[in-house]
Amino acid sequence: ITLTDAIENHQICVCVRKRPLSKKEMGKAEADVITIPNKENVIVHEPKLKVDLTKYLENQQFRFDYAFDEHANNDVVYRYTAQPLVECIFEGGMATCFAYGQTGSGKTHTMGGNFSSKGQQDCSKGIYLLAAKDVFKLLNSKYKKLDLVVGASFFEIYSGKVFDLLNDKAKLRVLEDHKSQVQVVGLREEVVTNTDQVLQLIQHGNTVRTSGQTSANQHSSRSHAVFQIILRQRVRNKIHGKFSLIDLAGNERGADTSSSDRNTRMEGAEINKSLLALKECIRALGRKGAHLPFRASKLTQVLRDSFIGDKSRTCMISMISPGMSCCEHTLNTLRYADRVKEL
Ligand code: ADP
Ligand code: MG
Repeated sequence: ITLTDAIENHQICVCVRKRPLSKKEMGKAEADVITIPNKENVIVHEPKLKVDLTKYLENQQFRFDYAFDEHANNDVVYRYTAQPLVECIFEGGMATCFAYGQTGSGKTHTMGGNFSSKGQQDCSKGIYLLAAKDVFKLLNSKYKKLDLVVGASFFEIYSGKVFDLLNDKAKLRVLEDHKSQVQVVGLREEVVTNTDQVLQLIQHGNTVRTSGQTSANQHSSRSHAVFQIILRQRVRNKIHGKFSLIDLAGNERGADTSSSDRNTRMEGAEINKSLLALKECIRALGRKGAHLPFRASKLTQVLRDSFIGDKSRTCMISMISPGMSCCEHTLNTLRYADRVKEL
């Protein structure tokens, strides 16, 4: 099948979500430069200068599978993005949902990975938990006869290294066997039987993720968080299906490649590399014989099994900030998202 088929079969879904202006931005009278005229289109009103220095706005329009405006809540976003993928893992497939965008655009708010920051955010309203809720719903109804067990794991990838958020940030090795099966050695997988247990794991993982950090956002902007719901056959313990939900590192980090600090520069380069590899891997989804550059980054290597197989389904939610000062990053985000689904 071709990439066109993959998109038409809804194997790849690319959406955009605009967050509202924050109180702080409103206090600074920051202009909102994003219009979402309907459920598919996004218009960026980019401020420009003419040769004679008169200001004008250049409108750039993009089209996606769905565009969510600032009034859409997490339930609505979930319903059109991750929810349609839940069934796929019961049918023996791999599902992946990415939150992409610049730091501060709403990735963590959407995924529900931010519990510890002043308690203002509730991870029970995020996509991690909404997905888990539906997994248990289907497990105990339509797919009861499959006799599956649910496991959950939660880890982060920081500067190309994997850390287990359910095991005190233990550093883990990634191995690839002779059959190209990728394994995160020793990754903890907790058996869960209800949504409350999952909520506790997420809360715990979020606390571990941000512990010892001066600012939760500063750290999370440089790391990818991966939350996985794994379905296993009760008898043979074999993996039946897997849902990976990913809160990606801020995409503006790529720009850090010119920083004077060596570590910052390396981190920026690593993030750049992983986001580029990710784009290529998603694009190759469903294309027979397409070259998958999954080895190009730890992120894509770890997610390898989600990119292969014709039962794999992927959804990307690109988050954008509405403010004029974010315009350049917003355009970068939209162009990246556009290329993911470009034919
Ligand atoms: P990111 O994870 O992309 O860096 P966050 O999710 O931390 O961004 O969001 C930045 C701030 O904006 C947080 O205070 C968050 O609560 C708020 N925010 C993000 N998206 C929304 C939204 N859709 N509605 C209301 N507030 C939001
Ligand atoms: Mg975040």
